[in-house]
This record gives sequence, C-alpha cells and structure tokens, in this order.
Amino acid sequence: SAAAAALENTITPPVKVEHTQLLINGKFVDAASGKTFPTLDPRTGEVIAQVAEGDKEDVNRAVLAARKAFDEGPWPRMTAYERSRILLRFADLIEKHNDEIAALETWDNGKPYEQSAQLEVPMLARVFRYYAGWADKIHGMTVPGDGSHHVQTLHEPIGVAGQIIPWNFPLLMLSWKLGPALACGNTIVLKTAEQTPLSALLVGRLLHEAGLPEGVVNIVSGFGATAGAAIASHMDIDKVAFTGSTDVGKIILKLASESNLKSVTLELGGKSPFIVCEDADVDQAVELAHFALFFNQGQCCCAGSRTFVHEKVYDEFVEKAKARAINRSVGDPFKSGIEQGPQVDSEQFKKILKYIKHGVDSGATLQAGGDRLGSKGYYIQPTVFSDVKDDMLIAQDEIFGPVQTILKFKDLDEVIARANNSRYGLAAGVFTQNLDTANRLSRALRVGTVWINCYDVLDITIPFGGYKMSGIGREKGIYSLSNYLQVKAVVTALKNPAW
Ligand code: ADP
Repeated sequence: SAAAAALENTITPPVKVEHTQLLINGKFVDAASGKTFPTLDPRTGEVIAQVAEGDKEDVNRAVLAARKAFDEGPWPRMTAYERSRILLRFADLIEKHNDEIAALETWDNGKPYEQSAQLEVPMLARVFRYYAGWADKIHGMTVPGDGSHHVQTLHEPIGVAGQIIPWNFPLLMLSWKLGPALACGNTIVLKTAEQTPLSALLVGRLLHEAGLPEGVVNIVSGFGATAGAAIASHMDIDKVAFTGSTDVGKIILKLASESNLKSVTLELGGKSPFIVCEDADVDQAVELAHFALFFNQGQCCCAGSRTFVHEKVYDEFVEKAKARAINRSVGDPFKSGIEQGPQVDSEQFKKILKYIKHGVDSGATLQAGGDRLGSKGYYIQPTVFSDVKDDMLIAQDEIFGPVQTILKFKDLDEVIARANNSRYGLAAGVFTQNLDTANRLSRALRVGTVWINCYDVLDITIPFGGYKMSGIGREKGIYSLSNYLQVKAVVTALKNPAW
C-alpha cells in the first residue's frame, strides 16, 4: 500500500541527542558500573543512543544527594516564593526549547511530532506554572481543640520522593510527578522508563538552568527490576509514586511495605468503557470513540477500550467506526498530518498482535486492520473488532494498542453492570444528550473520571486516578498535593485559656 511504502523513507529528526548520562546531584555522570543500554527508534528498531544504565548503586548515590539536599540544602528552607520562581523560569525554558524537547520525545517514543510540539510540550510548561502557583499557597490550619490548647497543623514536605514513570507520555508523566513534589518542597529520585530515557535528561538540564539547587531532582535511567526495585525498597526514600502496569504496581506496594512502609501512590491500568447511548449523533460518537481509543497509538492507561454501543445505533456505528479506522493516517511521526506513529517497542508490538489474533480466534468480527503496517519498525494497522463479548480476553485485558473493541447493549441497567464488571476502574466515557442518562451513568460508574461528551480531557487542574485495581490516590489538581505532604499537629498548652 502507499502507506506501507511511505514508511520506507525514515525522516531525520530535527534534534541532536546531547545527554545520555545519569543526572545526579546536579551533574551528568556515568553509571557506577559503567554500563549502558541502547534506546531504540520505534520507526526502525535502530539504536538512537547508548544511555547510562543506572542500577542499585546509582539509586543509592541519587538518594544520598536527594537526602542531603532535603536535610541540609536550601530547597525546603527557601521561601515558597523563591521555589515558585524557579518553577516559573523552568516553564519559560521549556517553551524556549519546545521543538527540541518535542523532537526527542517523538524520536524515542514514536508519537506524532505535531502532537509533541503543539500539545504535550506546551502542557508540560502549563503543569509547572500550575504548581509554581501552588508553592506559596500550601499551609496548615488552626484547629479548635478541646480544652485550653492552641492547636495548629503544619503541612511539611515528606522528604525524599522516589518516582517511577512509564514510556507512553514520558514528559507528562514526569511533570505530574515532579510538579507537586517540588511545589511542596520535597527532593526527588526519578526513574524514567527504559524505552524513553532521552527527553527527561534534557528537561533535567533545563531545571538546573532555571536555578534548581543540586540534588533536588536526580534522574536515573535504567530498568525496572534493578533501578526501579531499588527505589521502591530503599530505606531512605520517604514516598514512592508509580505509574505503570497493575502487575508492577503490586510489586511496588510489596517492596514499600517490606522495606520502610514508605507511602505509596499508584496510577495503574484500565479497561475503560466508552458508552454510546441510543440518542447519540452517530457521526460525532464515532469520532469521539475513535479518539478515545486510538489517541497516542492506543497507549493510554485511560483509553476508551470497551466501546459499548446501544443496539439501536449499533450497525451504523460499526460501519462508520470501520471507515474512520481505515482512514486514520499512519506513518512516520515526523511527517506532518500523521495521526498515528509506531508502537513504542517490539515487546508492545508483539503483545498487541497476539491480542489481535486472540480476538479473531475467539470469534469477534475483524472489521478493519488486523496486522502490522510495513515491514520495519513497530507500526500496527488501526484495528476494529465488532461482535465482541464480555468474556473475551480482548474485552478484559488492557491491550495498550490501536485495537477498538465494540460491544452491543440494550439498556442502561445492563450497560452499567457490564461496564463495572472489570477489575479496573480508571475512567469512562458517556455519549448522550439526555441529562438524566448522563447523571445516572456518572454516578453509577465505579471509575476515577467520567467524561461526558468528551474524552481524555487531562488539564492539570482536574484530579486523575483510579478505583479498584487502577490505582491508589489521585494525581493532578489540588488533590495531588497531599501525596507530597506530611501533616504535623502542634499542640500548645495555654497559660491563660480565657483569651
Ligand atoms: P509497561 O508494561 O507499560 O512497560 P511497567 O509497569 O512494566 O509498564 O513499567 C512502568 C515503569 O515501571 C517503568 O519505569 C519500568 O522500568 C518500571 N518497572 C518495571 N518493573 C519494575 C519493578 N519490578 N520494580 C520497580 N519498577 C519497575
């Protein structure tokens, strides 16, 4: 096909890789072991760069730096206004380097460059401005205790935060983690995903250019079982925040409890329903459901990956969803007008193709796609299944790829029960003009976010997180601050209780 042929010419990314070392105590350094690992271009599977491979010893070095920066350094002691100004300068530098950051993000991850440059890097700057705004508005309360006591609460930073992030939105995940932790005065050891280490290192340099004191943010590239596990089980880390799979989330919680009971927040998997009601304008519903699933190559924890469609509009919906998927423009993410690039790596690519085969074998109807695109890299055809049943694996597991599964329903009670019949509870989409239907569904669905006539609205002001096995805690918005604060009650006896 034309699309497959176009993939043969790989566009040269408009950026150079400047940083491949670990960022510890404000300096770029090699791994203690001297080891490196290759980070790959998902368009070809070729090596972009060799990156320092941090493991336990490097995490120990990073924790020492973060500990010192917290226990003795200026960061938690400077005025909140000064912290805020550093974050604002950082946001300005992000804007100044917008295209360079975006190009690294796309090269390492495979997402369309226009999306990186016009949406994600601007969001990155916005996130840090949001948290810069919080820094000097975090404070405790006075409490009317019983008896003759003056009672205050102090909201203090927790200390050293360990943060482990995934590869699907390397920069946004970094910002949702660093933003609140920094605003509250913590110091940090952050591990990027082994698939996408590059953009964080550039951004880490800019943070220091903005005036961040050394040791406050340490960035360790490396693998989960070594560097990641070392963070989760470290005795000198006070809190761990993780975004990734539910299986690894369980490991993090276990390692945290077996070590020092550090507090844990988890953003995990999902299998989110997108519910198209009988009153839907089918064209609009198809477009939104398509976006809900295919955005970011289908690599979103909150992807609308169970498309429930009312039987009255089902046939028309399936026809149009199929046509929309066939029209999706897949290609080199550096080319303009591209909606979908390659999947992030060969492991994800193979896993998705296995699920597609599973769908066919279990009797779902393959309407579109179903195979890889081209002969190199990790491109997958936009795929649509109809006649999907709840007990099929493709309706239960997180596929994390461009595979839409369409299920038919008859009435609201039924779709509520089926939508909630999942071990996950991250998000849901509802498409209807009927206010009662919207209200009823948004109250009945056991999920952390309900999007009504919209999807993936992820402003930093809106809290995000999961019910059930989709996670513990909330990120973003005002709710994220409590993840990075300790509350201290200070109780003072009053000599003269009258006044
Ligand atoms: P995905 O399946 O999307 O790659 P993972 O949960 O495997 O998601 O990975 C998310 C992050 O968790 C990555 O930074 C990865 O290196 C890290 N990770 C993976 N395994 C472990 C582990 N055993 N302990 C700590 N971190 C881990």
